[in-house]
Amino acid sequence: MERIYIGELHDHVGKSVSICGWISVVRDQGKMVFFDIRDMTGTVQTVVLPKSPVLELAKQTGRESAVRVMGSINQRPEKNVDKDKPNGDIEMVIESLEVLGAAEPVPFELMEDTAMVGEETRLQYRYLDLRSERMQRNIRMRSEFVRRAREFLFAQKFTEIETPLLTESTPEGSRDFVVPARLHPGKFYALPQSPQQYKQLLMVGGMERYFQLARAVRDEDLRADRGFEHTQVDIEMSFVEQEDVMNMVEAMLITVAEAMGKTIKQKPFPRFTYAEAMEQFGADKFDLRTDEEKAEGVLAYAWVYKFPFFEKTDEGGWTFTHNPFSMPVPEHIDWLMEGKNIGDILTTQYDIVCNGYESGGGSIRAHKPEILKAVYKVMGYSAEETEERIGHMLEAFKYGTPPHGGIALGVERNLMNLTGESYLREVQAFPMTRGGQTAVMKAPKPLTEKQLIELGISIRPPKKPQQ
Ligand code: ASP
Repeated sequence: MERIYIGELHDHVGKSVSICGWISVVRDQGKMVFFDIRDMTGTVQTVVLPKSPVLELAKQTGRESAVRVMGSINQRPEKNVDKDKPNGDIEMVIESLEVLGAAEPVPFELMEDTAMVGEETRLQYRYLDLRSERMQRNIRMRSEFVRRAREFLFAQKFTEIETPLLTESTPEGSRDFVVPARLHPGKFYALPQSPQQYKQLLMVGGMERYFQLARAVRDEDLRADRGFEHTQVDIEMSFVEQEDVMNMVEAMLITVAEAMGKTIKQKPFPRFTYAEAMEQFGADKFDLRTDEEKAEGVLAYAWVYKFPFFEKTDEGGWTFTHNPFSMPVPEHIDWLMEGKNIGDILTTQYDIVCNGYESGGGSIRAHKPEILKAVYKVMGYSAEETEERIGHMLEAFKYGTPPHGGIALGVERNLMNLTGESYLREVQAFPMTRGGQTAVMKAPKPLTEKQLIELGISIRPPKKPQQ
């Protein structure tokens, strides 16, 4: 018999149907057994009546078992209607019961808020935690966000393109995760901190409008809103200026958030220069919501732009604040080329802030080799060092490179705002523990001697803590 989803049972009142799902609640009343059965679309109360041939089996079947049941869908008598539940007016009288996967007692209560369960237990049994209402909702909202973003971008002539996972260490950002190269002993790939260079090379490659749901991996200290791995809606566009990218991204965020039933505090998004943001909020990310708006789940987006391009290093030199591949604002290109007023040079970087989080950032890029070279010169690189680092970009930019710019939107940060969650792990299916252990599986782990030999790696004893 064809499986009917529980959310659609109203269309089958008076008929006999088959449903599949998990038993959320068992009420064994001796002569009868009640099960609440749920699937991904809803929950329904079912009953095994006295004298049913499956009564004994029902009594032995534990909560969270996966079952297939067949039975008739009946309207409940008026006095038994539970108006608060979507299926509160119907119930199923079970005629046959098949236990597809029996469940042992589960290690924590899944029908209550699992945020209260210890992190290690929750992540060790993440597949059970995922059955909880909150995780089901969050992970499905994540899928909806990604789907709507994709739909918007496809409608705007974007092409989805994957870039390599095994790549070269990038000069932006933080520590790399590295992968030993068996065929090149002593050499390492790096996992991408972002597809920055490849997406720019796609612009040289005439793709014009690229996006990707890109995994970005950074070996950073773990925080509530930051993990080793995250996903970004990574975008790059050719023949554009700052305003074009900002307008496109703003339209996308409005379309996606409103389709997901969210209210946006202010449209168009207010804009603050970095200097204004620092003066008004003392930070470049801030929360514009009132307490009431916080309670209502309103989204308060804002742009921050006109950031300083460079900042002083501890050693007294200069480094970039956001992205070394950015273009200065047009009126400061001369300063960059002449190497003067370095601290005053502003970049075309724009960050999108929402409810206190930086939920994305991007810039217009330096698409001319001499501008990119000048950035590296300011940062103290010799011509040879610049060549060594980004020679492939300088070479590519010689061949008719269109002006281009883009952005990356953090999927998790956006989801935290859409769901109202304060922790990244609530919007990722298999996050790491705070100590950097994988969920369910037990990485990181030592390699076998055979693997180490094959890779040409010997492990040094860990450094002793200093006395
Ligand atoms: N590559 C930048 C990042 O990952 C985003 C961008 O400038 O497009 O933060």
